[in-house]
Amino acid sequence: MCGIVGYIGKRDAQDILLGGLRRLEYRGYDSAGIVTINREHKATLLRAKGKVSELEALVSAHETSDMVGIGHTRWATHGEPSEKNAHPHKAGDIYLVHNGIIENYKELRAQLKGHTFVSDTDTEVLAALVNSLYSSKVSLKEAVSQALRQVVGTYGIAVVSAKNPEEIIVARKGSPLIIGVGSEETLIASDASALVGHTTQAIYLNDGEMAVC
Ligand code: GLU
Repeated sequence: MCGIVGYIGKRDAQDILLGGLRRLEYRGYDSAGIVTINREHKATLLRAKGKVSELEALVSAHETSDMVGIGHTRWATHGEPSEKNAHPHKAGDIYLVHNGIIENYKELRAQLKGHTFVSDTDTEVLAALVNSLYSSKVSLKEAVSQALRQVVGTYGIAVVSAKNPEEIIVARKGSPLIIGVGSEETLIASDASALVGHTTQAIYLNDGEMAVC
């Protein structure tokens, strides 16, 4: 179970996400990644095996001025440490980061015929499940909520959709998730150390809770 960060506001999301991931490095991890979304619904997904410094090099080559995004440092439980298994995982317009274990991922995966799986993770199954429920009639919040009702296991998650760069959905069960409330911005972290220097106002989600940031 490793690190989650998120940012939505008016500052450079890549910069803030990388800063947060650096603060979570002490926990140990095997790969790292971020996705940011711009106002024209374009997502920039960057992932690297190894250290956050590898990810930083990638970000330097693909800088954006996006102001919303999520990031992750992974401690592999399902699938070897590799770029394809690093988070965020993508399904359709959905990007998702996850700490924890989806215990019934094999059963869920068998039902998700419409998605071509590209990783070995339990997490991609959750991304695909959310995407299968998300539509013009079902909001991202509702799709995440419906998906989580089908999940057996533990999770701290953050989810974004390229269709809607105005919100990040978070939820937790058995894995910590904290929302940092700033002035005209919101940060997300699995560990309060990632919020240091940004805000001292923190909301700790309880097990079974979700939030729209
Ligand atoms: N089970 C997920 C994976 O293996 C998440 C691991 C974590 O908590 O970092 O990708």
